[in-house]
Amino acid sequence: MSFSDQAQKGMFSLIDNVPSDIQVSFEFFPPKNEKMNEKLWFALQKLAPLSPRFVSVTYGAGGSTRQLTHETVVRIQKETNLTAAAHLTCVSASKDEVDEVARSYWDAGIRHIVALRGDPPKGKKSYLPHPNGYSYASDLVAGLKKIGDFEISVAAYPEKHIEALNEEDDLENLKRKIDNGASRAITQLFFDPDVYLKFRDKAQKSGIDVPIVPGLMPITNFDQNIKFAKACGTSIPRWLLNLFNGLESDMETKKLLSISIAVEQVKHLIKNGVNEFHFYTLNRPDLTFTICRLLGIKSD
Ligand code: FAD
Repeated sequence: MSFSDQAQKGMFSLIDNVPSDIQVSFEFFPPKNEKMNEKLWFALQKLAPLSPRFVSVTYGAGGSTRQLTHETVVRIQKETNLTAAAHLTCVSASKDEVDEVARSYWDAGIRHIVALRGDPPKGKKSYLPHPNGYSYASDLVAGLKKIGDFEISVAAYPEKHIEALNEEDDLENLKRKIDNGASRAITQLFFDPDVYLKFRDKAQKSGIDVPIVPGLMPITNFDQNIKFAKACGTSIPRWLLNLFNGLESDMETKKLLSISIAVEQVKHLIKNGVNEFHFYTLNRPDLTFTICRLLGIKSD
């Protein structure tokens, strides 16, 4: 569709050749106090009119937000027109306990679970499966499917999971999760879109045929983003460090740079056939909202 055709149809976008079937989803974390709760609901209200495919709520390390995640997911499902998805992990819980949580989601009308192994609880360096628990995400996916016909998303790692022996092993693990019933993979954050594209192509070649949705984390707080990326094993390109170098207290320029980076990333991904994006919003709506506008996604 030409630029003027798009403009006439009201689908104005700064990015060329944006497909009209772009889908987005947004990830939030559960609020721990009233102030954070207000922030979350402000973010949800701002982003909801963009009609995301789903919005998901994370599960704190070691299952620490079990109740909060549940309350938040169920409230979103009840009080908005959004489809809410619950993250669920295997850490520090028996199969019976995890199954109980899953059943309570099913009973509350939640049909989408983001199934994860989870990171070790705070203070523990390495992961140890619970003696009576699901050991890995692939086991959890199989267990969930026995409880109900959930839609299940799982995690994928363009730069390999930090504990994986090698890329092949990690891809086999992803395949196991799909074979056990997951229908979508969402990637760990990355900064270089080519890293994602190479991984997607490799995964497809190895027979993985479900959508591998890029997980994008707009840079809302550079230091925090970098810390998070390092912890996940995401490589940090030199150009990115150079761009932000010396801007420590210049919030405005940092925000503008973040938008430019995100636009370059999505442009490159769209050019290479990507039409679905998952945003790690960190409960901050502004950059995600702006990027969606640039993708041509408008409020209803
Ligand atoms: P798995 O797929 O189980 O893999 C974990 C590791 O174990 C990999 O190295 C894999 O290769 C290896 N492995 C798998 N099976 C076996 C086996 N049978 N034998 C030996 N090794 C094996 N964490 C949270 O705590 N809460 C969240 O809400 C949350 N949300 C996330 C959302 C997304 C989109 C992503 C990408 C990550 C999220 N995480 C979350 C982080 C995630 O829990 C961690 O990255 C965790 O370390 C791995 O989880 P996984 O589901 O990928 O694990």
